[in-house]
Amino acid sequence: MNILQSPWPNPALSALEQVQLPLTLKSTSGTFTIDPQSNVRMYVCGITPYDATHLGHAATYLTFDLINRYSRLSGSSVHFVENITDIDEPLLERAERDGTDWISLAQKETDLFSRDMEALRVLSPEWFVPATQAMDLVDSAISKMQEGGFVYLVDNDLYFRTSLFLSELPISEAEAITIFRERGGDPDREGKEHPLDSLLWLANKNGEPGWNSSHGFGRPGWHIECAVISLRYLLGENYLSGDSSQTSLIDIQGGGSDLIFPHHFMSAIQVKAMTGQQFARGYVHTGMVGLDGEKMSKSKGNLVFVSKLLHEGIDPVVIRFALLQSHYSEDRMWSEANLESATQVVERFRSALSRNEVAPTSELSHQILAALAQNLDTPRVMQLLQDWVEATEEGQVGGSTGELARLLDSALGLAF
Ligand code: ZN
Repeated sequence: MNILQSPWPNPALSALEQVQLPLTLKSTSGTFTIDPQSNVRMYVCGITPYDATHLGHAATYLTFDLINRYSRLSGSSVHFVENITDIDEPLLERAERDGTDWISLAQKETDLFSRDMEALRVLSPEWFVPATQAMDLVDSAISKMQEGGFVYLVDNDLYFRTSLFLSELPISEAEAITIFRERGGDPDREGKEHPLDSLLWLANKNGEPGWNSSHGFGRPGWHIECAVISLRYLLGENYLSGDSSQTSLIDIQGGGSDLIFPHHFMSAIQVKAMTGQQFARGYVHTGMVGLDGEKMSKSKGNLVFVSKLLHEGIDPVVIRFALLQSHYSEDRMWSEANLESATQVVERFRSALSRNEVAPTSELSHQILAALAQNLDTPRVMQLLQDWVEATEEGQVGGSTGELARLLDSALGLAF
């Protein structure tokens, strides 16, 4: 797979004059703000392309799309990078199960993901970088960490000394080990210095895919991939030197809440080992999406795929609208009823927008932007829109549908 620049077409954003409030976001360690007219460096963990985009993915990418849109509308220049984990255990397993090769499976699912994102009007990343195109970056990063004494060998595999950063653990060590085990870590492997030490380079085994590197033939661990891709594509060629003009190297590291630990923690301490600096100013995480009262997961076989909904003829604006009804940071449940109620609300909204006379929109626009500025309070935005529809239906006048439609399209990606 190739490194792609702006992999799918971006809809134009109409400039909105009134976007002046800083965007306040919740990070794992408190709140932080993105000021208008600033330089925003955002990295969002991408998909492992072995299956189609499900609603949990859609909710995540939609959240960072709101941050991207709000920042652009407030005059910031946004540098947004996303990776594709196109070499990983689940991808190899799925390719084997389906009797296909992993490269074509990854390509097919990445193409489908791009089409889903385009349909949902998610602005495309500036750089969309497959892990398989980052091998030289991983190679140099490991060498740099070796010089600093952060790396050791177990058999032919290389491990990172997480043990040097235990004071930064966001949870207790015992809890961390349990979660590490559940989420793909190997705390029980013999020969490791500490259970939480994480894999940097896996020597080739059983004819699995591998790459030549100065650390032998093999492939990288997951955390180091995101660490180097984010730095290289957000900081440039000299990424290993860090950026001493900044207290943190990037502004936002984002993904689902299942990435808080170990993935984002491990990436951040590896960045610190490489550069001596803090990785991100804020770590923003989205809640999980369940289905009909159960956790949505591949093992339960109850994933709701965006492409399937689109194929069934569901209007993408309805999917987007339905996902915006919950706050991004909360876990939420999805059901057919969500889609039905969103369909009805969207229809009602469209019919209000098609009237000649509508309720006032000027104050509403300010209120919508103010709600977004408060940690993307989309439930509040939805309430404001519902109140406006009711006021319009009651016959209030004085608004401009053009003004409101432009705001919803630009700030929320809702094209009615
Ligand atoms: Zn990642």
